Amino acid sequence: MDRISKVVRSKNMAAVRSTKNKSTEIKFLALLRSNKIRGWRRGSKIYGKPDFVLAKNKVAIFVDGCFWHGCKKHKTIPKQNSAFWTNKIRKNKERDKHVNNFLRKEGWKVLRVWEHQLKKPNEAQKVSIKLQNLLY
Ligand SMILES: [Zn+2]
Repeated sequence: MDRISKVVRSKNMAAVRSTKNKSTEIKFLALLRSNKIRGWRRGSKIYGKPDFVLAKNKVAIFVDGCFWHGCKKHKTIPKQNSAFWTNKIRKNKERDKHVNNFLRKEGWKVLRVWEHQLKKPNEAQKVSIKLQNLLY
C-alpha cells in the first residue's frame, strides 16, 4: 500500500511540475508577444538547450523554475531526502553557470528569467526591458 501511494505521489508531483513549467512558458510567450518580439524558436539544439532562442540576434533565453534552479528567494528543500535535493539543486546551479559561460564564450547573449519574475507585472516589466536591451 505504501508503494502504491508513493507511485501516486510521484505521479502527482510530475503533473504539478509539468503544469508549472507550462504556465511559466506561457507567461513568457505572452511577454514576447507584448514586446512584439518575433523570430524566436523553442526546442533549440544549441548547447544547454535554451528554452527560447533568437538566432538572428544570438540571444539564448532560459526560463528557470525557482525550485529546480535554486532561486534565492524561493528555494525550498523538501524535508524528505534533503541531502539529495540540496545536492541536486547545487548541481543544477553549477550547470547553469557552466552553460552561461560556454554560450557567452561562443558569442551568445544569455538571459535567464526566473519563474517568479513572470508572476509579478513589475518584475516582468524589468525582464522586458532587459530583453529589449539585448535585442536593440
Ligand atoms: Zn523565485
